Amino acid sequence: MKDLPNIVSDLIETTKKHEQYRDKECINMIASEGIKSPAVSQMLDMSHDLATRYAEGENDREGHVKKRFYQGQKYMSQIEDYATDAIKSLFRATWADVRLISGTHANTATFKGLSLSSKNNKMVVTPLSCGAHISHDYTGLAGSILGIDNINHVYDINEFNIDPDKSAYVIRAAKPGIVTFGGSLFLFPHPIKELKEVCNEVGAYIAYDAAHVLGLIAGNQFQDPLREGADFITASTHKTFPGPQGGVIMGVPDTPAKEKAVRKIQYAVFPLTASSTHLGRLPALGIACLEMKVFGQELATQIIKNAQIAGQYLYENGVKVVAEHKGFTRSHQIALDVRSFGGGNKIAQELEDANIILNKNLLPYDDQSDKENPAGLRVGFQDVTRHGMREGDIKHLCDLMIDIIKGKRTPEQVKVDVMALKKEFGQVKYGFQSVEEALKYAKS
Ligand SMILES: *Cc1c(COP(=O)(O)O)cnc(C)c1O
Repeated sequence: MKDLPNIVSDLIETTKKHEQYRDKECINMIASEGIKSPAVSQMLDMSHDLATRYAEGENDREGHVKKRFYQGQKYMSQIEDYATDAIKSLFRATWADVRLISGTHANTATFKGLSLSSKNNKMVVTPLSCGAHISHDYTGLAGSILGIDNINHVYDINEFNIDPDKSAYVIRAAKPGIVTFGGSLFLFPHPIKELKEVCNEVGAYIAYDAAHVLGLIAGNQFQDPLREGADFITASTHKTFPGPQGGVIMGVPDTPAKEKAVRKIQYAVFPLTASSTHLGRLPALGIACLEMKVFGQELATQIIKNAQIAGQYLYENGVKVVAEHKGFTRSHQIALDVRSFGGGNKIAQELEDANIILNKNLLPYDDQSDKENPAGLRVGFQDVTRHGMREGDIKHLCDLMIDIIKGKRTPEQVKVDVMALKKEFGQVKYGFQSVEEALKYAKS
């Protein structure tokens, strides 16, 4: 091992290389990664002191600061309240908690809180193989840390969605305390409305995991979980929602059962799972909320349109895109089956060699034990869209992908075109270019 100064100089140099590589030279199509506006990034830069502080304590029923244990909080408590109010306003929630540092943290507190509130340790979830996040699963957070028993929704592989009729039987028989919706491979809105009644009947809370689709929900283009029957939404604030890395929980607690759930979730946030709450991200989160209020509808519409255009174009050019009979997707992502071209592993690597970054993905009908050799690729369009790509640009990008998938050109040859395309779309659209601009808009 090198000595410490050399390690740190390597660390700094490598970080510079990373920033140049992923931010300037690669096209990002990872479906779980967001893209911050200059204003959001600048706000993070302006919040250095805040990013060193602690704000442990309790919050009230509106999600506002109630009690803090340290001194020096006079502005911090206001900042947290304003960030909470920004989230509540954008999503028409009456309660929110912004103290979560990630989507997994939001799920931790929510699943724990809801199982305490329902005194029921069973949770119905989408199967992991069909797109649920690992934190929902018995092999992950839910089972291995929280000790929650999983029962799977019935998933219709043909429809790429939960089967509402069959899942109703499962919920009625299992009588869980929690039913979850939402996921990581997430093409179509989940049937909350259809399953709301049976959840009520057995006394189960509905938790909707919007980590992937929060930005689409903000833009009113996917589904509206709180109005369709979800009791709580959990999410990351950095996937399609273009905020700083963090997590959030929100809801409309308008019944005694939901009010009780809020108290239990807050207890699961603090003191159970949070100490430092990474306060430096909160002002930037608020700016991202305003951006989504102003640009969210246009952005979300274009993201979904671009995903659908890519699905259609790739399909017409001989690449298998799943859910063709359903128009490929209603979200920011599509899923490709590239088994006949060598599989997800090989193609994802070759695309990386051409500076197109995405991830291989097991498809619901894949052998789930063979994680290293999935048929699928998951492709997200939130980044390219926010950089300004529209129909013609998306088709051009698809042509470059097809060259790789079909082996028409080498990754080295395609990379030149990818880097040129990236250069053309360097600016971040659908957002404020500076904090000053955001402030000017806010005050106008
Ligand atoms: C990404 C993801 C999470 C985890 O969020 P982090 O912020 O990465 O911890 C939770 N649920 C779903 C559905 C996700 O896709």
